[in-house]
Amino acid sequence: MVDAVRQAADEGAWGRYVGRYGDELRALLRERHGVGHAWLCSSGTAAVELALRGLGVVAGDEVILAAYDFKANFTDVLAIGALPVLVDVRADDWQLDVDKVRDAMTSKTKAILISHLHGGSVDLARLREIVGDGVPIVEDACQCPGSVIDGRPAGSAGDVGVLSFGGSKLTAAGRGGAVLTDRGDVIERIKRHVMRGNDLSPLSELQAAALVPQWRSLDEQNEQRRRSTRSLHGLMAEITGLRMLIPPDHSRAAGYYKVGFEYDPTVMAGLSRETFCLAMRSEGIAFWPGFRSLHRIHAARRFRAAGPLPVADRADGRIVLLHHPVLLGTDADIEQIVVALRKIQHAASDLSRRSFEIPPAPWDRDE
Ligand SMILES: *Cc1c(COP(=O)(O)O)cnc(C)c1O
Repeated sequence: MVDAVRQAADEGAWGRYVGRYGDELRALLRERHGVGHAWLCSSGTAAVELALRGLGVVAGDEVILAAYDFKANFTDVLAIGALPVLVDVRADDWQLDVDKVRDAMTSKTKAILISHLHGGSVDLARLREIVGDGVPIVEDACQCPGSVIDGRPAGSAGDVGVLSFGGSKLTAAGRGGAVLTDRGDVIERIKRHVMRGNDLSPLSELQAAALVPQWRSLDEQNEQRRRSTRSLHGLMAEITGLRMLIPPDHSRAAGYYKVGFEYDPTVMAGLSRETFCLAMRSEGIAFWPGFRSLHRIHAARRFRAAGPLPVADRADGRIVLLHHPVLLGTDADIEQIVVALRKIQHAASDLSRRSFEIPPAPWDRDE
């Protein structure tokens, strides 16, 4: 990767608006996803907004999404002037409950935005059966690039797919994103929105140069992350208080940007989730509380809840995430996670009586 960036720099690509690195990345993404178009842009957040605009979503329309989802997905809907309609997540894996989508639909529903989160996947095939072809689906694959869901590359099964190349993601360029689609009309609307004599939301040549080799080694790395997650799941068999949300399954080529868990403080002597994660991090293991549920952090007038959201409430208070880098470590690194878990479980009642200063999660920090 460093070689590719150095070469791009040597060629002067660092100073160019457009060139062969962007072309190469677009071609690679089209081919991998079997789609006609890959539009590069400045972030996954921008890509979600462009996907919705590309589908013709405008002010006053409604967009359905899970009540437990990445917060920018919600604000992207608001940015267009559309109304987020929140649907609860499934009781087992905390992914969008597709069986609840039908009841959330109205004549104003212009798109359904689904995100595969924390090593899991939304059942897109079933969603399509339920909603028919009338309402387009945006498939957010920011957390699982290169994974395969129901035999299709993640991001290629909706009307429009979205990828992120943000600094913490599995293919990273600091910032960056892409929109994938077969629909020429979507790309035309995106162009009309971003091309103002200049591109409102570009990806640079140097970023593209850094991404191409990462996409080439992604399958191998995804496989290693899957192996690590399987062995972690096995090693955790006797751990109580922490449930892996999506048990690894050999039939799925899952992507692991984060591995999601349900944390039960009652089994950990009442140790708060925040203190538990802090203790894990002080053992060198990147555990963090997950993002908040959308209905918990936004005023009620900003969205419509399609029914009660009890599982999203539960996820809001209980989700814990393991960040991906450790999954490329050695067997000993994975064993160390379980050693740390046992240690903290042992010390839980002592820890729960003390108070700690808890830093905000990186994604909750204002930059
Ligand atoms: C990271 C992420 C995004 C947005 O990506 P950025 O490039 O950070 O803007 C969107 N959706 C999900 C599910 C993500 O995890």
